[in-house]
Amino acid sequence: MSTELEGRKADVVAPRIDWSYATSRESTDIVSIEKRYGLFVDGEFRAPKSRKHYESVNPATEEHLAEVAEAGPADVDAAVSYAREAYESEWGAMPGAERAKHIFRIARMVQERARELAVLETLDGGKPIRESRDVDLPQVAANFFYYAGWADKLEYAFPGLDPEPLGVAGQVIPWNFPLLMLAWKVAPALATGNTVVLKPAETTPLTALAFAELTAEAGLPPGVFNVVTGAGETGSHVVGHPDVDKVAFTGSTAVGKIIQHQLAGTDTRLSLELGGKAAHVVFEDAPLDQAIEGVVNGIFFNQGHVCCAGSRLFVQENIHDLFVDKLKARLATLRVGDPLDKNTDVGAINSREQLERITELVDAGVSEGAEMFQPACDLPSRGFWFVPTLFTGVAQSHRIAQEEIFGPVLSIMSFRTPEEAIEKANNTPYGLSAGVWTSKGSRILWMADHLKAGVVWANTYNKFDPSSPFGGYKESGFGREGGRHGLLSYLKGPR
Ligand code: NDP
Repeated sequence: MSTELEGRKADVVAPRIDWSYATSRESTDIVSIEKRYGLFVDGEFRAPKSRKHYESVNPATEEHLAEVAEAGPADVDAAVSYAREAYESEWGAMPGAERAKHIFRIARMVQERARELAVLETLDGGKPIRESRDVDLPQVAANFFYYAGWADKLEYAFPGLDPEPLGVAGQVIPWNFPLLMLAWKVAPALATGNTVVLKPAETTPLTALAFAELTAEAGLPPGVFNVVTGAGETGSHVVGHPDVDKVAFTGSTAVGKIIQHQLAGTDTRLSLELGGKAAHVVFEDAPLDQAIEGVVNGIFFNQGHVCCAGSRLFVQENIHDLFVDKLKARLATLRVGDPLDKNTDVGAINSREQLERITELVDAGVSEGAEMFQPACDLPSRGFWFVPTLFTGVAQSHRIAQEEIFGPVLSIMSFRTPEEAIEKANNTPYGLSAGVWTSKGSRILWMADHLKAGVVWANTYNKFDPSSPFGGYKESGFGREGGRHGLLSYLKGPR
């Protein structure tokens, strides 16, 4: 009797409370999107000679955002010739200290407009506002500050090298980090005295156009920075233009190969930052709870639309089951949904095409015999979404272990010895990045030495800094972006 009474009292004292996060939606009032955008050439927006436009949509709602110009060959031609003129007449010969002032001003204006640009990035691309606000935008500003600092010190960067710019840089970037990839490419190009024609990805052009407007407000001389929007064909015109001296491309390995063919036999300089299938290796002596956070960040950050995503997890066999259980429990706490909600961990898939690609590969994983786990998850009814997914029982030969999925999908395998971990981790045509979790420093160094990857993170993942070079080898591309090395791609001399 008394226990029943106590039970009833407990109900009164501690009523059921919903401890889940209340929605905290970032306002979009700060952003104004034009109905229709022209191309940004010679310091102003102009209607495309092609007379063509296409639609940019919000992938989280499928709502129309704006009409964007589709640049044809004559438009690309005009942009390149303005970039050439600006290079010859002013920018190429401008003292480094003067160029630095322009780039510092751009960096400060990016900081001033950071909130607006973050909201726009999230609207156009679907990534959580928490990431665009706390990762992308601070990194964008940091890259401009960092390279502004080098502009008047180039002769000290590489002793013995007479630092001469190349001329006009044609830059083609993808949709996963639209403004950050712009910063990685534009900041070193301008710092070294080159002018730029940039082609943003078809699905995420809006922040590049807002940035273009910002460069005009900052007083960057007309023609130094130009934006030609459009699809892959526009990118191909930029890449193949005979008056472009340097091509910098980030995107898929398939398109990277096309570009390499296109430029074979020309003296156009090329750097390629392509796909990856990174190995994330967890040893039995790793701090497991931190490793869980690292693995989650490695694959679910930006919906897994990350070239260096830790998409293959190798767990030492004796902790495999424990680690997978912890991972499943953690996955169940990820909040998937409205990217503008500040509590959202996993946002929208960038496009319908990308969603179809992810779905096709996940279906292949199931039909090839891997075991799939997805937490219970309510997805919004409109927009492009994919539930965070784990696969166990994955074989090295499965497509989900070999091909870049570029989505929130993790393939888990096991190993017994460090040698076996290396053998399996290196069993990929890619070589962009890797992660190692262990408490032994000597093992970290041994692993870093043997992993065939351009970047190896130890007891952390996805850490970026403008002063640190990034890039791959094998089918992940060549050339380095970031750091002092990132300047070399835009200077005459050794490649
Ligand atoms: P793409 O390689 O097709 O796109 C990257 C950029 O190149 C875009 O601006 C694209 O324009 C442009 N482009 C496409 N074709 C050409 C061409 N022939 N010449 C010059 N530029 C071109 O990537 P996708 O968007 O098709 O994504 C496919 C896969 O690529 C993903 O699933 C992922 O695996 C990988 N990827 C890797 C990235 C990375 O960071 N390493 C980034 C993006 C994708 P448009 O947007 O109009 O197609």
